[in-house]
Amino acid sequence: MDNKIVLPGEQVSTSEELLPGDGTFEENGIIRASRLGTYFVDDKHKKVIVKPLTSIPIEIKKGNIVLAIVNSVRSNMVIADVIHVIGKKRAISGDTNGTLRVSEISSGYVKDPATEFAPGDIIRAKVTQVKPSIQLATKDRDLGVIKSMCSKCRHSLIRKGNMLECENCGNKEKRRYASDYGLIDPNKL
Ligand SMILES: [Zn+2]
Repeated sequence: MDNKIVLPGEQVSTSEELLPGDGTFEENGIIRASRLGTYFVDDKHKKVIVKPLTSIPIEIKKGNIVLAIVNSVRSNMVIADVIHVIGKKRAISGDTNGTLRVSEISSGYVKDPATEFAPGDIIRAKVTQVKPSIQLATKDRDLGVIKSMCSKCRHSLIRKGNMLECENCGNKEKRRYASDYGLIDPNKL
């Protein structure tokens, strides 16, 4: 599994096997990635590490398809932190704080962003503006949530019909998910 790229929130090991190292955190015995990066095991110290995707950083451009983590969901917009430009294995420089307005979420009418996204969701979005602020849109079918965790127990939500369901507790949640939700290979991002 060395050098595999993992998403934030993705399970990388268990606390029985390894210790949580840089770029990871432990939750209920499960070690998860805390950033998008490359999986690596430090055999000497029995630690799992997620190294950042570094090299020369890039700036976000209009038209880029990006991954972002939802920070907060308000009545008329979603605030998300851009973490990755699809197709570029480089870190992002400069401002990463993006705004997704309610009218840009779906091609259909959305009344309340809280019915579509939740804090911690990883979304794939299109950059529609960079200056003076980063604006995002998720209107296309391949845009929207690509990874989401249960609001009750933090296990992964899997797709069941047109809803997402917790693999652990069975809790059902609604999201504006991307058409390939659950089928994404992080190495191809
Ligand atoms: Zn659950």
